[in-house]
Amino acid sequence: MGSLLAKNQIWETCVICEQTKSAGIHLYTSFICTDCESIMIKTDTSDPKYKYYVEKLRKVTKSGIYS
Ligand SMILES: [Zn+2]
Repeated sequence: MGSLLAKNQIWETCVICEQTKSAGIHLYTSFICTDCESIMIKTDTSDPKYKYYVEKLRKVTKSGIYS
C-alpha cells in the first residue's frame, strides 16, 4: 500500500525554480517546492537573490487576485 500511495503523489511545477516537484507548499494558487521555500527562509533580505524570489512571488500573488 505504501508504494501505491507514493505513486499517487501529485507533482507540480514550482513557481520559483520551475522544476516539477512532489513536495512543497501552496501559496494562493501556486506551488513552491520545499527546496525553494527553505532557500527563501535562509536568504537575507539584503541579498539580491531575495529580490528575485520576491519578484517571482509578486507575480504569483497578482495572478491569484485576478483569477
Ligand atoms: Zn522550487
